Amino acid sequence: MSSSTASLAPTDAGHTYVVPDAKGGFAIPTDLLIADKWTAGTSGKRIDVLNPSTGEVLTSVADATVADGLSAVDAAAAAAASWAATPPRARANVLQRCFQSMLEHADWLAQIISLENGKALPDARGEVLYAAEFFRWYAEEAVRINGDLAIAPAGGNRIVVQYQPIGIALLITPWNFPAAMATRKIAPALAAGCTCILKPAEETPLTALAVGEILRRAGVPAGVVNMVNTSDPGPLCSAILRDMRVRKLSFTGSTEVGKILLREASYNVINSSMELGGNAPFLVLDDADLDAAIEGAMIAKMRNAGEACTAANRFYVQEGIYPAFVEKLVEKMGALKLGAGTDTTTQCGAMINRAAIEKITSLVDDAVAKGAKVKLGGKVGEGAGFFYPPSVLADVPLNANLIREEIFGPVAAIVPFKDVEDAIRMANDTEYGLSAYVYTGDLKRGMQISERLEYGMVALNRGLVSDPAAPFGGVKQSGLGREGAHHGLLEFTEAKYIAVSW
Ligand code: ADP
Repeated sequence: MSSSTASLAPTDAGHTYVVPDAKGGFAIPTDLLIADKWTAGTSGKRIDVLNPSTGEVLTSVADATVADGLSAVDAAAAAAASWAATPPRARANVLQRCFQSMLEHADWLAQIISLENGKALPDARGEVLYAAEFFRWYAEEAVRINGDLAIAPAGGNRIVVQYQPIGIALLITPWNFPAAMATRKIAPALAAGCTCILKPAEETPLTALAVGEILRRAGVPAGVVNMVNTSDPGPLCSAILRDMRVRKLSFTGSTEVGKILLREASYNVINSSMELGGNAPFLVLDDADLDAAIEGAMIAKMRNAGEACTAANRFYVQEGIYPAFVEKLVEKMGALKLGAGTDTTTQCGAMINRAAIEKITSLVDDAVAKGAKVKLGGKVGEGAGFFYPPSVLADVPLNANLIREEIFGPVAAIVPFKDVEDAIRMANDTEYGLSAYVYTGDLKRGMQISERLEYGMVALNRGLVSDPAAPFGGVKQSGLGREGAHHGLLEFTEAKYIAVSW
């Protein structure tokens, strides 16, 4: 395991920092973004941001109070009417500039992501490109918010439907994709004509703030995007959701917090989009192309070191291909280099924090105690950073806790099966339903299985589903609504129906 000396350096301007190792970029603000101004907020308190690769403090960010949150709502409210009235083409041009600017600052942003999240630089760079694409996609969608016109069936009038901006949106994001989860919400909100308040995760605020500065410089008008960090998200988010001016909640995070927020949103009947937890099955049938299945498994399991809600959590592999699949996966996962995110040779970065390491350890220990065989890794290493090595567990029994719970780390749990019907039943036996993966050489069979999997997204002979042009989202307790595609835009609109006689 290698460590990194990469860190942040303060500037003379106070509360801003530069990334010494990054090309391009500018000083990262660490305050709250309210009405186009960076402000330290009213608490006088700061939240430490750690580097998970070293366990050390990188810097600190402003800690917003409820009053600061409501100031952000004031700013979003002041900007709402003019942004909604801005011509779609003008909104699209702003989004296009955001896209270009994110690309220009890709290296810089990737460094910030690796520093505060711990993920390997290739993962971080991949995230920045994915994050930027939401601006391009929604720049294109902003001019296609088409309505409907019909003659009422009874013939007496016309039915006119137009999609209007839903109003001020509260956007809450997690730490695992600190850039992409923010842009996946900000871009459609802005395209639809909404103003917003982003509340980034406590662990990874710097990326969001850097994106905030990019957006300001790209010409997003004052108050259209506001950002507040807080060490106590419950009261701040509740106060925002109970402000009558706020009409939309878009959340990505755990199912547990999603349920709390749905209750809060019910107070003022706030329209809610929820991207929650997953427990993705990965099915490999005997007739699958082994090399392709391994390549897909590596992406589905190891992208972001397993810290993704779409990450393959349970591998169900048919008996005929099982020994070869286990052997090859061990070989590939065992070859990955574990290390500090900012180290250029790292392929598997650090986990987000100590609690994540403890959770992975307890799930692995439980599976092993119940009979799973450790084929690779399975033990946390020494050192100050939050590292867990790539691990493979074979013959995992169905009563192991990791069959029910997302492990959110670089651990592949493999279960053999004989009958495809059993595999489908096991795959669907969960309260989650975000993404599933299927590998088979028979496309017709693959389509039939895909239709029977109770998931919002199925990757058939692929290890990656995410695409800004496709509807991302889950069924069951994995969420409500969709992000990306045209669907993601409509989440920030209301259908206005006008019955008209002429
Ligand atoms: P994770 O388990 O991935 O950290 P969480 O659901 O805990 O996911 O966090 C996702 C986001 O939800 C973060 O921005 C976090 O600050 C926020 N959050 C956590 N608890 C609450 C709450 N009670 N109200 C509003 N936001 C919350």
